[in-house]
Amino acid sequence: MTQCFYCQYKSKPDYKDIENLEKFLSQRKKIVGREKSGMCAKHQRSLTKHIKYARFFALIPYVSYQGIK
Ligand SMILES: [Zn+2]
Repeated sequence: MTQCFYCQYKSKPDYKDIENLEKFLSQRKKIVGREKSGMCAKHQRSLTKHIKYARFFALIPYVSYQGIK
């Protein structure tokens, strides 16, 4: 991925949009770094904010050990 996902689709991170937020979470539900996700600084910042919202509303877990042995 060379271009920022949200710039590419002309959309913005949204805490209700779990499907897309999860693309930027690691297996353990940690936020993937900008180097890896190819996200621009602006969207990375707002993504982090929205992931934290989503966690607060219990839409995504803080940590997950599911599927990890
Ligand atoms: Zn962007």
